Amino acid sequence: MTPLQECYSQVTTAFGAGGSMYTGGHRGADYRRSADQWIYAYDDFLVQSIDSGDGLGFSVGVWRKNLGGFAGFAHIKNLQAYPGSWVLKGEKLAQVAGWNDYHGDLWTGPHIHTTAGSVSAYNCSVGIRPLVDPVPNINYMVFGGGINTGGPNTGPAGGGTKPIPPTVQEDEMPKMYTTQNTKQRVIKAMGTQRFLNDDGQPVNLVGAVGRYQITLHVYGRNLKAGEELDLYLIRHDVATGVESPHYIETIKGEGDGVAQFKRNVTFAMDVKGGTKGTVVVAEMRIRGGDVTIDLTGSEALCFNIV
Ligand SMILES: [Zn+2]
Repeated sequence: MTPLQECYSQVTTAFGAGGSMYTGGHRGADYRRSADQWIYAYDDFLVQSIDSGDGLGFSVGVWRKNLGGFAGFAHIKNLQAYPGSWVLKGEKLAQVAGWNDYHGDLWTGPHIHTTAGSVSAYNCSVGIRPLVDPVPNINYMVFGGGINTGGPNTGPAGGGTKPIPPTVQEDEMPKMYTTQNTKQRVIKAMGTQRFLNDDGQPVNLVGAVGRYQITLHVYGRNLKAGEELDLYLIRHDVATGVESPHYIETIKGEGDGVAQFKRNVTFAMDVKGGTKGTVVVAEMRIRGGDVTIDLTGSEALCFNIV
């Protein structure tokens, strides 16, 4: 079996399946796959949509060159392309998220969740109906029909000529930067913490001068009722050392007082160049007792050069 065939060799939860997590039925098909394993493209994919959300974690939506229509993949990490670029059949698209990754709530363990539909890549990425069972098309493209599960093959012939990439100006395409994870950072009562990654370096959120949409995935424990956690992005001019704090958001403790919390905080900012460059770092300040914070899979999309 090829790596591509192995990737799509076993459906674990069929499209439309019932279950407590699936309002109105499972919106995609799940394939057996372990954390960190690669998800391979089963058609020539044009990446069109990158999304993140509480249910699905990171997801991606693509247009399918040979089959037509769109597909989505959820609970992913380490996406190998960005909107406007191609991932050809058999190439690596992304990795399967694991327990310590940002995987979303609609998840019980590592797997591939994939959808298909005819409306848009975005709808397939985030799971907006109408959606269809992707398995027959996948079987057709990967196995030529015959094995696995699913209905009759409906796709046109695969293979053939390679797609001609669309002409898109480089600076029109958002580039995505994903930070390294930082885990189990304890912020002492009334304290401030500059976030370092697991190698002890500041969590630099951007990779170049530009206009960014930055999303922090914040996980924490022990934020008690009445306590508040302030999140900041700080622009740091490497040459002068001058720092410009950017206030983002306050997370308020609530619930039973010892709640775990999780927030996706998205903020837009321009990063201009210093003489030696500019980095953006994350900092948090607690107004209350000790909290423990993870930043996992936070990312920055650079939309253009300023
Ligand atoms: Zn699923």
